[in-house]
Amino acid sequence: MSMMRSVLLAISENRWMRERGPKLWFVKRAVRKFMPGEEFADMLRAADGLVPAGIHTVFTRLGESVTDEAEATAVREHYLDALDQLKARGMLSEPSIKLTQLGLDIDKDRCFANLRALAERAHATGNYLWIDMEQTSYVDVTLDLTRRIKAEFPRVGVCLQAYLFRTMDDLKAMIEAGIGVRLVKGAYKEPASVAFPKKADVDENFFTLAVVMLEGLGRKNGFRPVFGTHDLALITRIRAHAERAGLANRDVEVHMLYGIQRGAQDQLVKDGVNVRVLVAYGAYWFAWYVRRLAERPANVWFVVRSMIAR
Ligand SMILES: Cc1cc2nc3c(=O)[nH]c(=O)nc-3n(C[C@H](O)[C@H](O)[C@H](O)COP(=O)(O)OP(=O)(O)OC[C@H]3O[C@@H](n4cnc5c(N)ncnc54)[C@H](O)[C@@H]3O)c2cc1C
Repeated sequence: MSMMRSVLLAISENRWMRERGPKLWFVKRAVRKFMPGEEFADMLRAADGLVPAGIHTVFTRLGESVTDEAEATAVREHYLDALDQLKARGMLSEPSIKLTQLGLDIDKDRCFANLRALAERAHATGNYLWIDMEQTSYVDVTLDLTRRIKAEFPRVGVCLQAYLFRTMDDLKAMIEAGIGVRLVKGAYKEPASVAFPKKADVDENFFTLAVVMLEGLGRKNGFRPVFGTHDLALITRIRAHAERAGLANRDVEVHMLYGIQRGAQDQLVKDGVNVRVLVAYGAYWFAWYVRRLAERPANVWFVVRSMIAR
């Protein structure tokens, strides 16, 4: 892991920085590249803007590590209302949520009750529920709660991280259970005992996992393979494999983050690939934003430029 990435990931987890960072005006200005605003209305505006390009969205209200029960309840209510608003507008936007935002660190059963309420409403409104993956210590519990949701509601998917050694086993279990998988490289600081330290190994593992995911499509049991990446070389490689396997372009579903690789998104849509963009919004954006900087340390220059261009 590069020194810069390591430092940025440490900052993202530092409580002192999490409190002060978001108040810095130049950081506030720089975050706009990745986030249309702090309100759900900002996300709706951004999602509306992408529809003419043939791109639908996934949405997430930023926040994690909630330690107050009332806050976890408020998060649940926010998503319930958001699902109703989307249904009323006939908008195809899917929620993606973090379990620590629904109170996982406070009480697992309460968190499950919150999650179940969201799954029920997503089901009732014809939507799909995505569950994010956080640090490695949360993987078992996240998969456990996802399985429990799947037992009642069919349209649920979970994020798996290609940097973890365990992911091939988890992926096979999710395919078997008919649970959707959004494969990503992984955004947190993990030790070499559980995750590939070298980026080249993560990239190769992503491809190996992608091959298994495309095979999983044949199961027709609700398993939905999604590739959450901006790595265009990797996407090209996955598409070439899909073509050799006799799959259509439409069978390849790619999710990217708002503000990243916009031109490539259009090209993928033109090629017939299924593209969604994840739009994040909300007041608690600092840790999430610093992880975006860590993914591409060159982004730090945006922050520096925002500071200079006052
Ligand atoms: C839809 C979606 C959902 C995600 N959900 C999770 C999750 O639940 N849990 C989790 O751990 N991680 C999640 N991630 C983050 C993921 O783990 C990676 O950290 C992130 O996607 C960067 O990896 P990459 O695959 O784009 O490849 P990289 O090799 O990091 O990047 C490939 C290329 O994409 C471009 N790029 C990548 N990141 C940026 C950036 N921040 N700014 C500008 N350009 C960039 C650059 O051109 C770079 O060369 C998610 C990512 C996406 C797209």
